[in-house]
Amino acid sequence: MSQENANGAEPVIDGHAVEEAGAAVAVAPPPVPTPALAVAPQGTPKELVARLDAIKEAQKEAMEEGVDYGVIPGTEKPTLLKPGAEKLAALFMLDVQPSNEKRWGADGHLTVVSRVTIFHAPSGARLGAGEAVCSTREKKYAFRTANLKCPQCEAETVWRSKHPPRNEPDAEPGWFCSSKKGGCGANFAADDERITSQERGQIDNPDLADLWNTVVKMATKRALVAAVLIVTGASAVFTQDIEDGQASPDQAAPAKAQSRPKLDGARVQKIGAGIAALKLTYREIGVMLGAAGADGLTEESGEGVREALGALTPAQAAKVEAHLEKIAQDRDADQSQKGGKVDGSQASA
Ligand SMILES: [Zn+2]
Repeated sequence: MSQENANGAEPVIDGHAVEEAGAAVAVAPPPVPTPALAVAPQGTPKELVARLDAIKEAQKEAMEEGVDYGVIPGTEKPTLLKPGAEKLAALFMLDVQPSNEKRWGADGHLTVVSRVTIFHAPSGARLGAGEAVCSTREKKYAFRTANLKCPQCEAETVWRSKHPPRNEPDAEPGWFCSSKKGGCGANFAADDERITSQERGQIDNPDLADLWNTVVKMATKRALVAAVLIVTGASAVFTQDIEDGQASPDQAAPAKAQSRPKLDGARVQKIGAGIAALKLTYREIGVMLGAAGADGLTEESGEGVREALGALTPAQAAKVEAHLEKIAQDRDADQSQKGGKVDGSQASA
């Protein structure tokens, strides 16, 4: 299952390579082919292997996970991010030429078609191109999630509390109407139906203009990554499959504006209790959440874990529950095996 499906988001339009007749590969300027030779391969298999080795070495020596490429648990290849693509472009001495076409809708929507053409800088030979689209019509840009409304003052300023109520330290953290954001400051219990029953549906994003610059950059980035992958042959090592920005520092905030089916509180509590019983480390919890297709921990604390669990979809929660069960079983098996060995040594003594 892909990451975006697991998150319930729509598949994105990724950049793709544009087939170029006679597009050669980087590293060395190809000899000028005579028409009769135009369909013959211009690189040897050895050169191909050398280029892949150079890419793998660049990944190991010059690239940083989370900055140049992203690794999503459960996926085969790391995702090449813009800074990584730029490093590969420098390594192969590529001259990257982007161009954008903007299409405006009467409703304020902007669709950008970006094309990145790549030349071999020393020779000027044209190596290939990548093309990609990004639009404010994409679900993550077109809508935003309505905030929770305060039952008392009716402002959309209700947030989940970080801590349980002072007089009930063991209770589940409830809700508060943020006076800092213009609300009345009231507190509500975790199970207050006036809040839990509210739909957190998606509404049309009223601030499309704020995203125009983002979609231009995103289209260019997708096209750049696509073009570099094809021109260098790096798609043997990296992929573009995963939603761009997922592991990237320039992730746009609107990507978070997706409504999810909500997990009920009792189930969240039960999973939390299971994690506590197994004494998992934050790292183990993060890996487990990633494997279930969920976001990792935003902070390594009990609050961070609660927040991450509360954001699980029912499908992700089922995976986490199965994972916890398996760890428990493995530990039981481990325990009985150790017990067996002890018995055996006692018997032989
Ligand atoms: Zn209020």
